Amino acid sequence: MSLVRKMLQIGRIAEPAPAASTSPDVPMAPMGPSIQVRYVDAGSCNGCELEVTSAFGPVYDVERYGVRLVASPRHADVLLVSGPVTRNMADPLRKAYEAMPAPKRVVAIGDCALNCGIFAGGYGIEGAVGDIIPVDLYVPGCPPTPDVLVAALRGLTGR
Ligand code: SF4
Repeated sequence: MSLVRKMLQIGRIAEPAPAASTSPDVPMAPMGPSIQVRYVDAGSCNGCELEVTSAFGPVYDVERYGVRLVASPRHADVLLVSGPVTRNMADPLRKAYEAMPAPKRVVAIGDCALNCGIFAGGYGIEGAVGDIIPVDLYVPGCPPTPDVLVAALRGLTGR
């Protein structure tokens, strides 16, 4: 009982969410207050993955803005893609995109997703993400930092 009393006395101590105005310009209308995200690494160096992990971790915690990772593209509103697209990943990426129900959005993260970055011209590279599937939003950076990823995904929820 003393613990409950203490909790009631102290109340909520988490920091309030930053204002939504910190979101970067997202050239599309928000999809809704909650989005389901399927993440595909199409051939990155894993630097972008580390930042995505941080964005969904306890410090940046993008889930508090209604953004949730899902295990299947059939459950996803948004396809989050990193890396240049390797020859082996071009078809799986196309299939993941085709499996998503409409309306759907594609967010390509990192310089490699934008223009193949340091891997441009490599033997195993099929192309940038936009060469394989239509991209709605690019988030540049090598890698983009977790706060930038959070801001971009918040732009899609409008929260
Ligand atoms: S953008 Fe940078 S961190 Fe991301 S996959 Fe390319 S080289 Fe790696």
